[in-house]
Amino acid sequence: MNIYADRGNMLMLERRCAWRGLGFTLTAAGLGDAVDPDAHDLFYLGGGQDRDQRLCAQDLVDTKCDALHAAAARGALVLGICGGIQLLGHHYELGDERVPGIGLVDLHTVRAADGSRLIGNVAIEVRLPGLDGPRVLAGFENHGGRTMLGTGVHPLGRVLRGHGNDGRSGAEGVLAGTVIGTYLHGPLLPKNAWFADWLLATALGLDPAALAPLDDRLEDAAHAAARRAAGV
Ligand code: GLN
Repeated sequence: MNIYADRGNMLMLERRCAWRGLGFTLTAAGLGDAVDPDAHDLFYLGGGQDRDQRLCAQDLVDTKCDALHAAAARGALVLGICGGIQLLGHHYELGDERVPGIGLVDLHTVRAADGSRLIGNVAIEVRLPGLDGPRVLAGFENHGGRTMLGTGVHPLGRVLRGHGNDGRSGAEGVLAGTVIGTYLHGPLLPKNAWFADWLLATALGLDPAALAPLDDRLEDAAHAAARRAAGV
């Protein structure tokens, strides 16, 4: 799936690698395409509306599920955004309908009976391995589904502003080893260059501090604007 600037997120990773002289190869996997669990450092599932999600869900289960489990088991990063986080879990319930997920993380999603959506600018506080102290991710959320984490499953972050997974718990996203999910899009990585770098470093098995610094004046301004929009 690919909505809300998922391509921009890919471009961000590509550019930051290129500026540092790091190789970057993007391979797309559409409906029916198999995925090689050993061929990539990061697996990315974008967002989509319910209609697209139904189309992708069964295909993910049928042709990509085993590969994504194998990739996560060997420590590759798997990042699911919005509809992507929903498909990483057990299922997405829409009334009587149950859209299957790949069960890579212990969570499930239920669409609100009244169809109400959780929309707006959002900021969360996150603590990630290899980074000292908390950081802020700022973005935009727009989802009808409410995501519930299983017992003992950690969210990606704590909601500072916005709705998060379910509009109630204060939890946003999921962080389970190298599997990460979040409702933040809008686009996530150009608004949070530090997180793009953390993903790159982690995917390559590097300390985030080992990445060569870049001139991030524009990126810092984008991050500040996203935080301002969220009121943080
Ligand atoms: N279809 C999902 C929902 O509305 C995800 C939407 C999205 O990816 N923006 O809950």
